[in-house]
Amino acid sequence: MTQKTNPQMIIKRRSLLGAAAAAFSGGALGFRTAWAQTRTETLKGEQNRSASDPGPSNAGLANANPNSNNPPATDRGDILPIWYSFDLTHRRIQDGGWTRQVTAREFPSSQDVAGVTMRLTAGSYRELHWHTANEWAYMLYGSARVTVFNPDGTIFIGDVAEGDLWFFPTGFPHSIQGLGPDGCEFLLVFDQGTFSEYNTFLLSGWLAHTPSKVLSRNFTVPEAALADLPEQGLYIFPGTVPGSLEDDRKAVGGAAVASTVNYTFRMKAVKPTTETAGGTIRIVDSTIFQASKTIASALFTLKPGALRELHWHPNASEWQYYISGKGRMTVFASAGQAHTMDYNPNDVGYVPQVAGHYVENTGDRDLVFLALFKSGYFSEVSLNQWIRRLPVQMTEQHLLLSAATIAQIPNVGNNILPR
Ligand code: MN
Ligand code: MN
Repeated sequence: MTQKTNPQMIIKRRSLLGAAAAAFSGGALGFRTAWAQTRTETLKGEQNRSASDPGPSNAGLANANPNSNNPPATDRGDILPIWYSFDLTHRRIQDGGWTRQVTAREFPSSQDVAGVTMRLTAGSYRELHWHTANEWAYMLYGSARVTVFNPDGTIFIGDVAEGDLWFFPTGFPHSIQGLGPDGCEFLLVFDQGTFSEYNTFLLSGWLAHTPSKVLSRNFTVPEAALADLPEQGLYIFPGTVPGSLEDDRKAVGGAAVASTVNYTFRMKAVKPTTETAGGTIRIVDSTIFQASKTIASALFTLKPGALRELHWHPNASEWQYYISGKGRMTVFASAGQAHTMDYNPNDVGYVPQVAGHYVENTGDRDLVFLALFKSGYFSEVSLNQWIRRLPVQMTEQHLLLSAATIAQIPNVGNNILPR
């Protein structure tokens, strides 16, 4: 795939700077003109002499990442990796399903968040377990039944379908079971970059590592009755599709032992936080999903050609999971450093805290992706809104834009273009 440069855009920017240089005089302008020339020379070099690549290439990866292979002329510097893919990881397949993970071991840029994708066939369990991190999840396909046990003795039992979330607090034991007709697939997000889904506390694993005499005394049953306990942790294993949710709830005591906290949330069903001609944003954080105390999330749908505006997040790094479509993101990492990458389904994106970025739909169908933040609340600074809240003269003198041009910049935040 060859690079699609946009010479018009570049000439426009250059002539704009040239016009500005002609209109004023003074020391600062000498600097601006020199900067414009440097940028132009770099671009020419890339186009005419230096971009050829006669050596080896992994065509699959190169074609999936045209913006990294032939970067925009505005990319510069040495920033940390902002792309990874679940499709590069080992898939742990067991009877009943599979799992794979992208943690700080695979993707060291992300120290705050680790991700897992998991498939459970109908009736199969992710074994009862607990762990050191909080767990947030998004259902990608199918449906599941989940349980969470609260330390106060109450239990939550709920069903989730595509577009739904759950949140399980650190140390609270829980289960996931695939429902009919074809089980489920989901994304798990943990608020600990080094978290490993393979190092959780499994119910069967604990019993397998406790002397049977102690188990006999603890459960007040004879040792012989415990003879068939699993000899090691099960992790994922096949089971029977359960009956109705109501029957399951009744069987354990109904309202008398029901959790007062709702650990699931129907994200895709909420009214969009933002809806424009270019797409939608659904922000779900602890202000509307109270259980999700440490993870804030946003679900984006960008129509073909749409642009998620330039912005940054003051309170947390951003961990992204791409669900469908094709997009690109440029991360501006201060000190003149910027890197553009392409994103395809099952890819992970990363943006350091406070680093500027945009996301653009470069495909011919909707681009759908999730953004996760290790925080109880979603927070963002919009470049457009910031500019429009400044005294016009201040912007004119910084950017050499006319007042008329500044007045055309959208005066809102949380935006997708076109409006
Ligand atoms: Mn878990
Ligand atoms: Mn963002």
